[in-house]
Amino acid sequence: MTIHAGVVAVQGDVSEHADAIRRAAAEHGEDAEVTEIRRAGLVPDCDVLLLPGGESTAISRLLAREGIGEEIRAHVDAGKPLLATCAGLIVASRDANDDRVQTLGLVDATVDRNAFGRQKDSFEAPLDVAGLDEPFPAVFIRAPLIAEVGDGVEVLATWDGGPVAVRDGPVVGTSFHPELTADSRVHDLAFFRQQAATR
Ligand code: GLN
Repeated sequence: MTIHAGVVAVQGDVSEHADAIRRAAAEHGEDAEVTEIRRAGLVPDCDVLLLPGGESTAISRLLAREGIGEEIRAHVDAGKPLLATCAGLIVASRDANDDRVQTLGLVDATVDRNAFGRQKDSFEAPLDVAGLDEPFPAVFIRAPLIAEVGDGVEVLATWDGGPVAVRDGPVVGTSFHPELTADSRVHDLAFFRQQAATR
């Protein structure tokens, strides 16, 4: 079967995520057809969605201007999976502690932008993630800190005592960039395992 995946492509790592989704699908014997989302009207045809990293202020502005933000909200309201990474998680959160970011409120969490420091402080760390047998090589780039999560939010991974991967219903959010290594297990966790549970 073919899974229709949309990668929001107003900014950020698009092709790396598309590759990771295809690899994760292949492991389940499925194909992934990946659509780059730059305008309204495409999200309703997607089974799963990905909101990549980049610059959260720019991403949120473009999502609002193009009318894509509302479609992403409807996708999640319908219980369909969304993986939001780094700046994508900031945009998907309830509150980013920054008025310039229009958050979508899809993850019941408050995040602090750039809490792990500036670009030079980016780092990679082996991370224990709930549901994965071996540590995941997590790349953090000016990563947001998840400051507070609501009761319904499952913390999937922590670093330095704070959550860095969470699940809120159909949404998985990571403060790191799971697309920057050859390891597609986080995409698998977000898209294929949730589907398996609800099918
Ligand atoms: N710090 C960026 C922001 O606030 C996110 C960085 C990233 O996505 N790698 O939008």
